[in-house]
Amino acid sequence: MTSVGQLTRQLTALEISSKQNAARPPTSQHQKKPSQTNVSKLLSKYAAPNPLTTTTSLHKVASTNALASKQAVRATSPTRPPAPAKPPSESSHSSQSTKSSQSTQPSQFSQSLHPSKPSFDIGRYDGGFEIENETRGEAVTGEAAEQLALDSSVAVGRPTREWHLTDFDIGRPLGKGKFGRVYMVRTKTEPHYILALKCLYKSEIVQSRVEKQIRREIEIQQNLRHPHVLRLYGYFHDEKRIFLMLEFAGKGELYKQLTKYGCFTEKRSSRYIDQMADALMYLHAKHVIHRDIKPENLLLGINGELKIGDFGWSVHAPGNRRKTLCGTLDYLPPEMVEGREHSEKVDYWALGVLTYEFICGNPPFEDLSGHNATYRRIQRVDLKIPSKVSAEARDLIIKLLQYDPDKRIPLSEVRKHPWIVKYRSKGHSTSGAA
Ligand code: ATP
Ligand code: MG
Repeated sequence: MTSVGQLTRQLTALEISSKQNAARPPTSQHQKKPSQTNVSKLLSKYAAPNPLTTTTSLHKVASTNALASKQAVRATSPTRPPAPAKPPSESSHSSQSTKSSQSTQPSQFSQSLHPSKPSFDIGRYDGGFEIENETRGEAVTGEAAEQLALDSSVAVGRPTREWHLTDFDIGRPLGKGKFGRVYMVRTKTEPHYILALKCLYKSEIVQSRVEKQIRREIEIQQNLRHPHVLRLYGYFHDEKRIFLMLEFAGKGELYKQLTKYGCFTEKRSSRYIDQMADALMYLHAKHVIHRDIKPENLLLGINGELKIGDFGWSVHAPGNRRKTLCGTLDYLPPEMVEGREHSEKVDYWALGVLTYEFICGNPPFEDLSGHNATYRRIQRVDLKIPSKVSAEARDLIIKLLQYDPDKRIPLSEVRKHPWIVKYRSKGHSTSGAA
């Protein structure tokens, strides 16, 4: 009979190989090389996994409790789709906590395999978290403090282990957001996952009156597992700050790429739109409407794959039609501009705007003479497609930018559209669906 120790090692080995698989571009006929010398390959190895989950198997995603048994199924049944790899919150640490809500740790993962410490540099920490904490923000008390007492170790549904800032080696700064900084970090314990740690100052959240929005964003994002949706592995807080443990998007912001190149080739645009449609289908199946699709909210993974990264305006709407006006003007559909009820089909419209913007470099209804002019152009669907745009791309843009939400082409059809199929590389259907 296999000992617990042996089983542990087998399961952990499986985890690590599935992590590598998840991070590898599905198209690559990757030949294993004896040494990995570049950052991209090392990151493929150590970036915390965001499993390649097929859209059809999403609803069967394992709970953390069932992880070990899923692994066993995978070990004996290689033809099944891979079970989701563990996030670090579920596996890379042995929990020292006494909280009962943290009992979802499969204990076998506490004795991990021992990959050598990643040799690449996570960059030099400038002490930003501590320096800023001296001067920025105030402790938040009362009702707001309760609202912002965000601790994934006690989260309903998906509790993780209890995390602290001291659990991470902190590396280079990745950027600054409205409410705080983002750093590249590595978990101190094996297998030394790489993450992005985003800090938010509670008092600034309260000042901006977005406590509920932030809470909703975190709750929604923590429950999403899709290769084109940025993973939120866990979160923790102290009296002044909330820290989000995010999937590291190695190639940064898509917006920066768009600014750098002005626009993308149709091939590149088509592949992004395919990945977007895949991610949106997943979100909509979970009754999450994004409502704020725009290049600024998209990040790129280490292999250049697209990741939806911001859920600030998204809403969980089971069977509900929403009336709130939100989102960025250029991406708003007529029903929102006109203050009518809206549904998940707002994201179809935004996908049309995005397709246009990727190819042409600017959103289709942008009007530099002001907001009112943009509103009017959206209401009239005043769409002028430049002649450089191919007939196939033009067809998809027109089919997405329909005034009547019900006439917009469904996402499953987007993924079968000739302009998408044409550029999809063989054997690569993003998350495996379609
Ligand atoms: P907002 O506060 O409105 O979301 P923002 O999107 O500019 O503003 P953040 O999301 O806090 O701010 O991110 C700040 C910067 O850090 C981003 O511009 C991006 O370059 C970088 N960044 C954020 N998250 C990640 C991540 N997961 N991986 C890599 N870089 C990231
Ligand atoms: Mg952001």
